[in-house]
Amino acid sequence: QDFSELVSRYNVSEALVDTVKQCGYSEPTPVQRQAMPCMLEDRQILACAPTGSGKTAAFLVPILHALGAPQGGPRALILCPTRELAQQIYREALRLSASSQLRCSVVRSIKESKVKEREATIRKSDIIVSTPNRLCYLLNQDNVNISLDKIRWLIIDEADKLFEGSEDQSSDFRQQMEQILAACGSKQRRVAMFSATHTPRLAQWSRRHLRGLINVTV
Ligand code: AMP
Repeated sequence: QDFSELVSRYNVSEALVDTVKQCGYSEPTPVQRQAMPCMLEDRQILACAPTGSGKTAAFLVPILHALGAPQGGPRALILCPTRELAQQIYREALRLSASSQLRCSVVRSIKESKVKEREATIRKSDIIVSTPNRLCYLLNQDNVNISLDKIRWLIIDEADKLFEGSEDQSSDFRQQMEQILAACGSKQRRVAMFSATHTPRLAQWSRRHLRGLINVTV
């Protein structure tokens, strides 16, 4: 199986598949083989896959397919535990979106002086990458107006790290998720979670919040 099958089976554009190949990816990795079809069929997933297994492209390709062309305003939101990982995902998103008009941004700074700048960038972006902390900090500013109600795909990467920090961190994160999920609306919003391990909190949370979740284990 190679990426070209995505064209015939899921109507993924040849331009996107060509970009994937130009990134040097000739064959999908196991997590890509399993997660991409589910997401292309609009199913919510919890994918267990180790770091370095190709999970970034596994969620970016279906997102890029689902978004197609820009419509003004964010329609995909990718959350992850650290700035470094956010930056890495952002770089991969830039590479994979090269043949599209879609705009990606990463929420870098939460300095007060940068708030309006971040707001403007996010409002112009199709895909946002952020840590939950930074995003919620921005959403909670009085002078900031960012709408997430058009979000189609919400990705939670390294979900185990986000859910399984210290008791305080984990509870902050769950509160942030409540806020983010509420802001995203629910009609067309889908969630895909990627995690190196299955953890009890993660399982409990996803049972409560995500209907029809498919478990993908690599
Ligand atoms: P990730 O798990 O997303 O951090 O990816 C780990 C590394 O594998 C990154 O350097 C990717 O560029 C690379 N990669 C992702 N998908 C593929 C693929 N299908 N073939 C070869 N390398 C890949």
